[in-house]
Amino acid sequence: MSENSGPKLRAELDGIPTYKPGKPAAAGGPVAYKLSSNENPYPPLPGVMEQVTAAAGSFNRYPDMACTGLMNELSDRFGVPLTHLATGTGSVGVAQSLIQATSGPGDEVMYAWRSFEAYPIITQISGATSVKVPLTAGEVHDLDAMAAAITDRTRLIFVCNPNNPTGTVVRRAELERFLDRVPSDVLVVLDEAYREFIRDTEVPDGIEIYRDRPNVCVLRTFSKAYGLAGLRVGFAVAHEPVAAALRKTAVPFGVSQLAQDAAVASLRAEDKLLGRVGSLVTERTRVLETLRGQGWTVPETQANFVWLRLGERTVDFAAACEKAGVVVRPFPGEGVRVTIGEDEANDLFLGAAEAFR
Ligand code: PMP
Repeated sequence: MSENSGPKLRAELDGIPTYKPGKPAAAGGPVAYKLSSNENPYPPLPGVMEQVTAAAGSFNRYPDMACTGLMNELSDRFGVPLTHLATGTGSVGVAQSLIQATSGPGDEVMYAWRSFEAYPIITQISGATSVKVPLTAGEVHDLDAMAAAITDRTRLIFVCNPNNPTGTVVRRAELERFLDRVPSDVLVVLDEAYREFIRDTEVPDGIEIYRDRPNVCVLRTFSKAYGLAGLRVGFAVAHEPVAAALRKTAVPFGVSQLAQDAAVASLRAEDKLLGRVGSLVTERTRVLETLRGQGWTVPETQANFVWLRLGERTVDFAAACEKAGVVVRPFPGEGVRVTIGEDEANDLFLGAAEAFR
């Protein structure tokens, strides 16, 4: 036996890039705002904090593995049976379970590209093959090309709506037309992490779409509009076999009691939280219009971020923003994604964008 032979790991893991979190704001230096992870800039509501503090007193105990209270609350709020729900460790945790439940070596997982950077990683972990269908020149999903790319190996298709990092959307008519072309044994996952930020009335609510379509699953999260990114809780709405498979494959006790209680309190405080979303949407309009006024081409966004295609200038632009006190998310060679944050952070970003032109 050779001295250096370690444990045998699955070949699929070779070359998987590490999931890259948004860079944190600089510690110490000049005030740096973090606009790199699409977080909610508002601090937790006092009522939600109270729930979390109360739950913290019992963290010597395991959480309720079935997330009973949260499941009941979700069932009431969204009008779906309990059997059609599954919770998980953030919606990325649920997405990973969805791939695990449907796809393995020899299978194909399809999504638009560029889109959410976790899709290729969690696909590769499963041993399945990614099929990346380029966005159109207008930075939107090319659903005709996606339908044409379906093969008898396709098991799962992500439609990220709105799309991360472009903020662009798929509208009702085109989505329905696409779904009509997808074979019934292929699962279509509507990733609606930014759903609450949508103001375009032509964008369908995935939970209405899923009702008549057994092969559609909707992913939602408490990380964005509800401001619980650090607590890790997301959920899926899907017909029974899919939801049951998700409950089976979830990491045991993956949603802490703090997260469950905070999520329930957030649903009960939804009016206040959605009011904050409204303010962020107003800021989004201001940022978008100011950028366009400066001469930038910015796609229409329905999420809590904007996308600037900068090509080779991407890394320099991100550095200029950082110098101005805001950390943005560069995708080298492509562009930057900038979260709508505190008003003063948005101002610093807009100042940097103006100076860079
Ligand atoms: N889907 C999309 C499109 C996202 O942008 C994100 C977060 N960046 C997620 C899912 C995952 O969010 P979480 O795991 O915090 O629920």
